[in-house]
Amino acid sequence: MDAPQEAQPTGEFECQLCGLTAPYTYYGPRPPNSRSVVILEEAYVMKDPFTPDKEKFLILGSHCSLCSRSVCVGTECSLFYSKRFCLPCVKENIKAFPLEIQEDMDKRKPQQKSSKKTHTKHKS
Ligand SMILES: [Zn+2]
Ligand SMILES: [Zn+2]
Repeated sequence: MDAPQEAQPTGEFECQLCGLTAPYTYYGPRPPNSRSVVILEEAYVMKDPFTPDKEKFLILGSHCSLCSRSVCVGTECSLFYSKRFCLPCVKENIKAFPLEIQEDMDKRKPQQKSSKKTHTKHKS
C-alpha cells in the first residue's frame, strides 16, 4: 500500500439548494494531513487549491441535520449552530433557535437598497 501523494477527489459534492458542485477529497470531521483542523461536523472538504499548504482545507458543505440533504456552507444555503442546518429548515424552525440566530437570519434577508438605513423592525 503506497500512500497517495495527492488526495484524489473521492466524489462530487452537490448542494441541493443552490446547485453548487465541487469535487471533494474527504468527508468527515477530520481532514487528513490536518493537525489543527477539526471540523465540528461531518463535512465535505477539499484541499484548498489556492495554496500548496497541505493543511489548508476548504469546507464545501455538509448534510442538514434535520432533512439530511446536502447543503453548501454558503450563507444562502445553511448555517451552523452546533449542527448544520439548511436555511429552509432554519426558517421552518426559527422559533427553536436562539434570538441571535433569528436576528442573524433577519440580517441575511436581501437588503433593500434604500437611501437610509433604518433600525425599525418590520412586523410581518
Ligand atoms: Zn448551496
Ligand atoms: Zn434541512
